[in-house]
Amino acid sequence: MAEPRVRETTDEGARDLQDEATGVDAAAICADLIRFDTVNRGEGVAHPERPAAEHVAALLDEAGVAATIVESAPGRASVLARIPGSDPAHPAFLVHGHLDVVPADPSEWSVPPFSGEVRDGCVWGRGAVDMKGTLAMTLATVRRRLREGRRTRGDLVLAFLADEECTGDHGSRYVAREHPEFFAGCTEAISESGGFSVHAGGRRVYPIATGERGTTWMRLTARGTAGHGSKPAPDNAVAEIAHAVSRIASYEWPVRLTPGVHALLDGLADALDTTIDHDRLDAEARRLGGVGQLFSGTIRNSANPTRLDAGYKINVVPGVATAQVDGRYLPGTGEEFLATIDRLLGPRVTREFLNYEEAPAADPAGGTFAALGAALRAEDPAARPVPYVMAGGTDAKSFHRLGIASFGFAPLLLGPDLDYFGMFHGVDERVPLEGLAFGTRVLDRFLDTR
Ligand SMILES: [Zn+2]
Repeated sequence: MAEPRVRETTDEGARDLQDEATGVDAAAICADLIRFDTVNRGEGVAHPERPAAEHVAALLDEAGVAATIVESAPGRASVLARIPGSDPAHPAFLVHGHLDVVPADPSEWSVPPFSGEVRDGCVWGRGAVDMKGTLAMTLATVRRRLREGRRTRGDLVLAFLADEECTGDHGSRYVAREHPEFFAGCTEAISESGGFSVHAGGRRVYPIATGERGTTWMRLTARGTAGHGSKPAPDNAVAEIAHAVSRIASYEWPVRLTPGVHALLDGLADALDTTIDHDRLDAEARRLGGVGQLFSGTIRNSANPTRLDAGYKINVVPGVATAQVDGRYLPGTGEEFLATIDRLLGPRVTREFLNYEEAPAADPAGGTFAALGAALRAEDPAARPVPYVMAGGTDAKSFHRLGIASFGFAPLLLGPDLDYFGMFHGVDERVPLEGLAFGTRVLDRFLDTR
């Protein structure tokens, strides 16, 4: 690797050309990555990430980085790399993202979803937004920095992971458990779901994720006396599970304003020059439109019944009935959430966890959040960065187990007509070339602060 040298800032023309070249590199890498079909259907059914992982490793190799490909199972590959910083005593910093994508039905799309076609100023295809575009920006930015001999102060750790669109068992969970040495000294990270522009009232808000709701996927079980369908059955397992599911589904979870959501509401009120009534947050979310989605799903816990299974014959009362519930709880409310669930289940239904993940939270008042916001404002002086909490989950949960706090930061400047949230797992997913170029400039500036 080349020795670090001072960044050439006096020659703005040359710098602009380099910026432009990095944006072009990101768009090309994005299109190439989309062409690798890394569809993850969930429940362990996925196309292997290995070919895409080898492509990423080759791009890093070209830049002089010896990347390591690890596999949890044949083909389920992730790429890990650690680029030494200039100061071994400085904390390392992690940039992580996922190689897999959700399925796409070609009949619904305007272009073949794995074509990586460039049309109307956008790269089109499954994963353009979630999140091969971000991987491409990261790769293009890192390649440029290495070409120019610019290192971060601490080590820069890169992780391109399999299986985020399922449980991460073949990706983030696997590498966190089996290869923690790659992440030694990392305390903070950036990854998906944040740093993009949301247009509101002529202003550009950039939400940066500082946390996620925790995940509790539960199997509920009711047991009763098995018997003939014509006989009285006071402890009918099917009826018991139905009652419990009904109680959970109809429960109105109270609003819980956690510090992360409070920080978002304050930030939004300030950015939009409005007041937000904390006593009518559902109505306020509707009033605020796109930015209202930033908190509509994170002002309370939730539990949705998603599966039911009982019985095998109409005239036989089964002894067991089960259901599955997808529960999500805000940081700091895990105990309250489970106490409520247990009250709703009642004494005759038991629960077990199929998946339990803590709710990670990063500090919206710390230096890293400030540096992320400053990098955005340097490239978009109208940018209004705000912290927000994600309703769902990402690989950040796996790295939380290693003591690493992740910020959702995949910077993109989007036109007001592009619905970023709608394109996540949506039809005609696409990312503007301009947005990718913007993102590489923001990432580059942010990495200068690490
Ligand atoms: Zn994603």
